Amino acid sequence: MGLLRWARAVSPWILHFNTGACNACDIEVVAALTPRFDVERFGALKVGSPRHADILVVTGPVTRESEPRLRRLYEQMPEPKLVMAVGTCAISGGVFAGCYNVRGGVINVLGKADMMVPGCPPRPEAILEGLIKLVERLRGIKKR
Ligand code: SF4
Repeated sequence: MGLLRWARAVSPWILHFNTGACNACDIEVVAALTPRFDVERFGALKVGSPRHADILVVTGPVTRESEPRLRRLYEQMPEPKLVMAVGTCAISGGVFAGCYNVRGGVINVLGKADMMVPGCPPRPEAILEGLIKLVERLRGIKKR
């Protein structure tokens, strides 16, 4: 395993972006990232810059307003990069699907979601499980 891949696998950095969520999913993501559920014990760290992130965590339906920002954040992340859709809205648009201002879920905009955590909102344990599975994937991922 190359040094970079090893570093990503033992300490994946996470960027969280709310594309229009009602905030309940965000609260669960924050709970998963803070000491009660303590994602840092797996080496994960929340970062503020897409240029430092390995995993993009998206909450909420993708609105027309947030779509260009989501695309830009994703493009700025270095390869290999993974996308995690947290909550029904991020997966498919959820209850907002079909609204005039909603493009749908992450897949409709980025064309992929490497991990989907269903729920409205999902529990922090489910978010952690999704992250751990993604980290396992990072361990085996090939750089394109
Ligand atoms: S999935 Fe539910 S909790 Fe999450 S943003 Fe959508 S409506 Fe809110």
